[in-house]
Amino acid sequence: MGHKAVCLECYRVENLGSNLTNINIGKCPLCTNQMIFINHKFRPPKKTDTKK
Ligand SMILES: [Zn+2]
Repeated sequence: MGHKAVCLECYRVENLGSNLTNINIGKCPLCTNQMIFINHKFRPPKKTDTKK
């Protein structure tokens, strides 16, 4: 379980843990782009992944 934040610029994923009461979605440490909140089932799209 757990939640994550992902940067759409460089696909960096930060683990936020399962405690949603004290999370702080910040900016990507690499490119400073705003990271988005995702669930643990989310996977970044890969060009090699042709099947679900
Ligand atoms: Zn980034």
